[in-house]
Amino acid sequence: MNIESYIRSTKDFPKPGVIFRDFTPLLANGEAFKALIDQLKERFSNKKIDVVVGIEARGFVLASALAYALGAGTVLVRKEGKLPHATHSQEYELEYGSSVLEISRDAFEKGQKILVVDDVLATGGTLGATLKLIKENFSVSIEEILFLIELDELKGRQRLPEIPIYSVFHY
Ligand code: IMP
Repeated sequence: MNIESYIRSTKDFPKPGVIFRDFTPLLANGEAFKALIDQLKERFSNKKIDVVVGIEARGFVLASALAYALGAGTVLVRKEGKLPHATHSQEYELEYGSSVLEISRDAFEKGQKILVVDDVLATGGTLGATLKLIKENFSVSIEEILFLIELDELKGRQRLPEIPIYSVFHY
């Protein structure tokens, strides 16, 4: 089954000149979504991951499905002000202005093995902030980073620390 054919590319969204890579058609197709998660389960099952971390919002969908398949937990990295319990936060730069990501203070237990997941790696700013958030506040082992899609020309990978990144599709 050609999973990639379910990724839709939309020109000039969210602004002129940008091609938006959208995996929601893949999610909407039961066969394609199952094939993707089965493939990822195969790829990560020997890593003995304890917790899959999803980045808001599309990362949540991939993280929770994969965590279920791996028998792991899911932790949510959210935009500011969404998590009810005490949080750690990390500010990061956007193209215009800045934003803040948060994680619950009780998200992990010491020594857990973590897999961080998001749908798209673009400039790497979001992932960089997420890694900082986890590394500066928890004593866990980030085993690997997973993206469904990597936008190669933005060179996000080069701005990130030395943790292995696996992207299913490259554009
Ligand atoms: P970065 O911080 O520049 O790497 O941007 C990554 C974040 O923006 C991720 O959370 C993505 O969900 C979102 N993003 C950037 N480009 C796209 C795209 O083409 N499709 C879907 N999401 C995108």
